[in-house]
Amino acid sequence: MSIRDRFTVLYIVVFLALGVCAVIAARSRKPIGKSLALFLSALMPPLFGHILIIGSYTPTVAKVGYYFYFIGMDLVILSLLRFTLEYCSIVWTDRRGRNAVNAVFVLDILQYAFNPFFSQAFDIEPIFVEGHPYYRLVPFFGQTMHRLLDYVCLAAVIIIFIFRSLRTTRVYSEKYWVILASLLVSTVWQTSYIFSRMPVDRSMLAMALTGLLIFYFSLYYRPMKLLDRLLANIASEMPDAMFFFDVNDKCIWANAPGIELTGIDGTSFDDAPVKLAEMFGSSYRRTDAWNSRRILGENDERKYYILDNHFVTDDCNRPAGSFLSVRDVTDEQLSLQREIYSATHDKLTGLYTREYLYKRIAEAIHTNADTEYNVIFVDVKNFKIVNDIFSSKFGDYALQCIAEWISRDLSKKCMYGRLAGDTFGMLVPVEEFDHEQIEEDLTKFVVSDGSVEYHILIHLGVYRIPDRDLEVSVMFDRAHLALSTIKDEYKTHIAYYDDKIRDKVLWDQHITSQLSEAISTMQLRPYLQPIVDSGGGIVGAEALARWVHPTDGFLSPGLFIPVFEKNGMIVEVDKHMWRCSCEILSRWEKTRPELFISVNISPKDFYFMDVVEEISSLTTQYGVAPSRLRIEITETVMMNDSDDRVEILNRFRERGFIVEMDDFGSGYSSLNLLKDMPVDVLKIDMKFLGRSENGTKAQTILRNILNLSSDLGIASLTEGVETPEQYKMLAEMHCKLFQGYYFSKPVPVEDFEKIYLK
Ligand code: C2E
Ligand code: CA
Ligand code: CA
Repeated sequence: MSIRDRFTVLYIVVFLALGVCAVIAARSRKPIGKSLALFLSALMPPLFGHILIIGSYTPTVAKVGYYFYFIGMDLVILSLLRFTLEYCSIVWTDRRGRNAVNAVFVLDILQYAFNPFFSQAFDIEPIFVEGHPYYRLVPFFGQTMHRLLDYVCLAAVIIIFIFRSLRTTRVYSEKYWVILASLLVSTVWQTSYIFSRMPVDRSMLAMALTGLLIFYFSLYYRPMKLLDRLLANIASEMPDAMFFFDVNDKCIWANAPGIELTGIDGTSFDDAPVKLAEMFGSSYRRTDAWNSRRILGENDERKYYILDNHFVTDDCNRPAGSFLSVRDVTDEQLSLQREIYSATHDKLTGLYTREYLYKRIAEAIHTNADTEYNVIFVDVKNFKIVNDIFSSKFGDYALQCIAEWISRDLSKKCMYGRLAGDTFGMLVPVEEFDHEQIEEDLTKFVVSDGSVEYHILIHLGVYRIPDRDLEVSVMFDRAHLALSTIKDEYKTHIAYYDDKIRDKVLWDQHITSQLSEAISTMQLRPYLQPIVDSGGGIVGAEALARWVHPTDGFLSPGLFIPVFEKNGMIVEVDKHMWRCSCEILSRWEKTRPELFISVNISPKDFYFMDVVEEISSLTTQYGVAPSRLRIEITETVMMNDSDDRVEILNRFRERGFIVEMDDFGSGYSSLNLLKDMPVDVLKIDMKFLGRSENGTKAQTILRNILNLSSDLGIASLTEGVETPEQYKMLAEMHCKLFQGYYFSKPVPVEDFEKIYLK
């Protein structure tokens, strides 16, 4: 094969390679792909031209080849310029400059169009190579201009690359100088061919190979040096201590924190494995990738580390070494611990918070399945008063004392926390719960801060856990409920939950939800119990509430009045009773206008309304004289806030109401109170005097009360009269009015009216 044929084949191969690469570049997702593809495609026409020049023996074909070559080169240089700007991230904003460059190239291409007529660019002349004619170029002025243009642009490209590779950081410059080098080589190569005027022009080969190199460098080449440097920088700047080992577990490098951690001198890393083993034990190195937490040191000196071991393999999965990172997480760990502590502990007392206590209790009762436990609700009574009377500072101190008592030397199985302001919660194994001891402690529970000494009343509600699956909050609710059964709050401090309590709660909810309907449908209505004078004649009645329930039947007030007194609904009951009584009185207006009705007023009523206004407006509304509606209040009403209450009673009396003191004798200071009480009638209950109507002691008391009241000008009424003897005796003692089963039980209004209104 002749030299020319061999080159022809070579050019064809390169031509095809360029084509393939151009397609790949065009499809590449890299941003540089488009202009790279353009550059590679531009290389193809001049290469084609060369194939014609070298392969043909006829002048016409060779000439056509030259046209392809020269015009193609213009396109090559133009697209190389474009590629260079993009590759070097240069934005050429000057549009006029860009247009000018394009125009010059257009002019250059145009001059070749005139060459067939004026021959101002080039001609060809045959020389003989290996016995065949080869058409060599004879350049003229136009061709020189063309070369000048191309070289100027090529020089510009090379200068740009030189600047880039000098101006960027070393590790990055690699990206530029690989291309710069190939451009330089191809320029020199091309130039030497052009000017040596050797037969068989091989200049284009260099350009085409440069194209292929550029293709590789800009699409596939990863700057390894750059990567190496980056990785090394990352490793040395990591805050974690890093140790690199070769396959034989020899430490080959450690970063600065690693050197500091192990205290090795930094010039040799050989001692690192020994030091690490001293710190973390020999198991710190394992043959598998693994991580673990290590704690070094004691108490305040304690340090927390996370060790991370990674193994490196080569492309064939053979071990190539490993590295270990050691992270000091002491700060994170300590702040986490502090956070956990403050989230789970009450600030004032240091006990668990409610949520955390619940969680811990739930865990404990499930892990210690054979321990019997009590859940205990600790309630500080009248704590508000402690804060009010003394100071909140003393209050805080008191709470701390209580917390201290709660957390007194109990076993590890016990748990305690603060549930809310003045309530605490405990979990105590049944066998550790010493009822007598606790009662004793609480009877004399005194808080003293040196100047103030105060007995704090504490009650414990105890729920013994039979069902461990119950929510802890429900267990505490039940323990809390038990408290409501404590009657004598100063004598008894501990109450136990049982099912009766639960039933009671359900009952309370049951009737509370039905109250308003009971009122509107008159299921709840007054019964009347007659009140008689010493001659046995009826003078009035007491209105007593009864609930004729559609499913539960007849309910006496003992079943619902205390429930409503507790939850405040009593107000609704009383208002209803007062209204009904007024309505009855207005009905009696025509037949027995002298009869009165006594109504009951609960202590709670005073909290929720202006009782005087409320009742006055009712009597006005029903046109009833106030004197016909008697007001029964109990001693307890007078106990709290007596000045205020005295005023209320005075207002009642000023408006013409008759005020009766109910259940006189049941309270503490009855006799003392009496002289200051603006009441018209004393209602004494026989029940308070015991069933011993013959007992001389009871008789003496009764006689004295009756005497006292007549001395004070207060009328007396005895209720609970059950026998003729009692009646007789009371009459002899000058009691004026009587009420009791001896005369009549409370009866429905219709019955009352049937019997007494005729
Ligand atoms: P209370 O005001 O002391 O009413 C007198 C209670 O003694 C009534 O019980 C009455 O039925 C009962 N009683 C009358 N005579 C005798 C007797 O000879 N022997 C005995 N053992 N008991 C007698 P009741 O009706 O069951 O009422 C109980 C309590 O419920 C009342 O005591 C009162 O405190 C309260 N209550 C009743 N109705 C109302 C009401 O409408 N409003 C308010 N706030 N409380 C009411
Ligand atoms: Ca009463
Ligand atoms: Ca009474």
